[in-house]
Amino acid sequence: MASEQTEDPESGDTPQTELFEEETVVFAHGETAVLRITPTGGECPVCAYPSLNKPAYVQDAESGKAIPSFEYCPCCDTQFGWDDKVAPDAPKNALHRIWSELRRKWLQFSATEDQRQRAETRFGKNVE
Ligand SMILES: [Zn+2]
Repeated sequence: MASEQTEDPESGDTPQTELFEEETVVFAHGETAVLRITPTGGECPVCAYPSLNKPAYVQDAESGKAIPSFEYCPCCDTQFGWDDKVAPDAPKNALHRIWSELRRKWLQFSATEDQRQRAETRFGKNVE
């Protein structure tokens, strides 16, 4: 059996990808997205980086609309609410199309092999 696959608990830099809740966020143009929220922040919807300091978006209870963090993802450099800004009259799939396009460029120009594998595990083999 493949005993080399044993995880090294001492390595310390393996992100906690197990601990998350899924939150459905509704955007002003009517699109919904399911984002992973972790105890310390959230997961990047573009590259699946699991350790954002804040969720990329949170649902505002009063307006019922998504509020961006305006933070940069340290992995793919997406600034939420700016790089993936969607007009209120955009088509319902506009945001996921933008995320796919940002992901495609990131995979093409700057992702490492480990980062690519993480994105494929999260979003499927056809991530590009
Ligand atoms: Zn990212």
